Amino acid sequence: MSEEIFKKVVSHAKEYGFVFPSSEIYDGLGAVYDYGQNGVELKNNLRQYWWKAMVQMHENIVGIDAAIFMHPKTWKASGHIDGFSDPMIDNKDSKKRYRADQLLEDKITKYEKEGKTNKAEELQAALDKVTLDNDLAGFKSLIEQYEIACPISGTRNWTDVRQFNLMFSTEMGAMAEDADKIYLRPETAQGIFVNFLNVQKSGRMKIPFGIAQTGKAFRNEIIARQFIMRMREFEQMEMQFFVRPGTQKQWYEYWKETRIKWHKKLGLGDDNYRFHNHVKMAHYADDAVDIEFNYPFGFKELEGIHSRTDFDLKNHQELSGKKMQYFDAELDENGKAYGNYIPYVVETSVGLDRLFLSVLCASYKEEEVGEGDKKDTRVVLSLPAILAPYKVAIFPLTKKDGLPEIARKIIDELKFDYNCFYEEKDAIGKRYRRQDALGTPFCITVDHESLENQTVTIRYRDTMVQERIPISKIREILASEVNWSKLLA
Ligand code: ATP
Repeated sequence: MSEEIFKKVVSHAKEYGFVFPSSEIYDGLGAVYDYGQNGVELKNNLRQYWWKAMVQMHENIVGIDAAIFMHPKTWKASGHIDGFSDPMIDNKDSKKRYRADQLLEDKITKYEKEGKTNKAEELQAALDKVTLDNDLAGFKSLIEQYEIACPISGTRNWTDVRQFNLMFSTEMGAMAEDADKIYLRPETAQGIFVNFLNVQKSGRMKIPFGIAQTGKAFRNEIIARQFIMRMREFEQMEMQFFVRPGTQKQWYEYWKETRIKWHKKLGLGDDNYRFHNHVKMAHYADDAVDIEFNYPFGFKELEGIHSRTDFDLKNHQELSGKKMQYFDAELDENGKAYGNYIPYVVETSVGLDRLFLSVLCASYKEEEVGEGDKKDTRVVLSLPAILAPYKVAIFPLTKKDGLPEIARKIIDELKFDYNCFYEEKDAIGKRYRRQDALGTPFCITVDHESLENQTVTIRYRDTMVQERIPISKIREILASEVNWSKLLA
């Protein structure tokens, strides 16, 4: 995958109604995007894939949907008010702002691309050290030492590196003087922590158990780039798994393996995933790893798996004055009940938009088709059938002779279970191509023969093979191909 393909994916996403820049008529809003009519379907299906795998397939994991607004003390307890910041630096000539660590990471990627492995490793080690020490002057001297120039102005005229808090704030309350400053959540996890006992008690959950949630999160990212990779409003899918203290390492390993398998099941290529261990832990973690995906612009974080210790629950207990403890009646090896404790937490956190982007990039293909003067390029999204925005498109060959009526009848039978697309305009070849570009796995064409013998042509997206089948068999084919168990089993 190359940068050039990435540009094509971005324009394909717009042209085919997957992703639009937000408020485009006003020239857009930085790092904010809207999902279009096909994007929303794919996104919903990806969310469902996650939800099914995490909640439906695990007896000991349940879901919640917490509010975006939370009591401001939440963010004090979680450490976000004091510690959720990135090192930023400005170029004095272009007046552009950058994340100091990202400028250095870009340099590492450049070295890797040029085959300068030693240089890349040397800089990575230096970057790890300054990151670990949160050494702002250290970032600056690395930027100087490695002669990093502003991509816009081309100069090395930099300001000092400063900390920048990523949380958005707003005010709650009608009167300005009474209003309280509140934050838009920068992660969904805290909604789970503050509800830990509500869920545990009302659901009679026994440790180990998990709480899952999907929803919007907001971060005032210093620099927005790479399309929906780094957004200021995005969606997370997080699961906090509550475990007995001392068992976190074992569960951390379990979730690492489980999550990477889940990604690989999508069939985008096993080599496109790798683990990247964190050297610098977030303020709450005692172990952390990223699952990285091979995007067209290089391997980048897609999901984080963090062993969060009892950091969050302990701090919420302290700040709220409410006990966040679990009573464990099970007996240890000495026959004594474990008793009361604050559970440890292993978290899995994946960005839905980054997942969407990984699927879009890896399934976008340009294929040479036809021969001689019929030679052509087709664009196809080879999505897993169950994730495709439309599962089947039904085309009457012509607009008359009763063919639309048969097509409509087929849709009426399928629409309760499958998202169907109907189209009667344009040549069949053109209609097929449009569905390829959306990733629709099956097209059904109704023609004059259908009137006589109740058969239709089914055309498969990936092979482009066309077959004559009885109308009564359509359901059977769809049921065997468009199936969650293909991804979940
Ligand atoms: P990064 O290092 O790329 O900023 P992070 O380590 O801050 O990411 P986490 O706080 O671990 O990210 O968040 C969990 C997941 O949420 C990430 O793996 C990513 O998929 C997603 N995510 C985080 N920030 C963004 C963003 N600005 N836009 C889109 N997705 C995001």
